[in-house]
Amino acid sequence: MTLEELRTEIKTCQNCSLYKTAAQAVPGEGNPVAKIFFVGEGPGFHEDKEGRPFCGAAGKFLDEMLEENGFSRKDVFIGNIVKHRPPGNRDPLPEEIKACTPWLAKQLEIIKPKIIVTLGRHSMHHFLPDIGSISICHGKAFKRDGQHYLTLYHPAAGLHQVSLKETIKNDFKNINKLLKIAK
Ligand code: URA
Repeated sequence: MTLEELRTEIKTCQNCSLYKTAAQAVPGEGNPVAKIFFVGEGPGFHEDKEGRPFCGAAGKFLDEMLEENGFSRKDVFIGNIVKHRPPGNRDPLPEEIKACTPWLAKQLEIIKPKIIVTLGRHSMHHFLPDIGSISICHGKAFKRDGQHYLTLYHPAAGLHQVSLKETIKNDFKNINKLLKIAK
């Protein structure tokens, strides 16, 4: 299956009830042979409207950090744990995550990234359920079953809490360090 075929299936997904309140699914986008796969939590207001991941304020901050580290959106893939916006931006429920994450697994299977960069605690705990709090694990690299992970705060955290902005920017620099190791 190609990424485009998968995208078409995700667009019509009714595996949980989130599709009923969302405007559209946001499958994710980027390079089909990306070395880096960013995984956020789920679409927010702007993403729901536009059908693209990270196109609001948090996305702007993500773009800034990509550029500062020598990347553009065309180099990487950006996706989410859940593909439809939870109403009012509430946290996705465990059953919604369970229903949706097979899509993410298929995207990862096709792209085979060197590094999965988790954005926020939901994404981090999906892949690495046994690690501690994000306030301790942020910016760290992990390797599980041959897959490299880097766990970052969600970019929105840097917008809500200005003191975290520099921390997030510094943690982001670890992507290039990990890429060298993950080759
Ligand atoms: N926050 C996320 O976790 N994902 C998006 O796509 C946008 C904002």
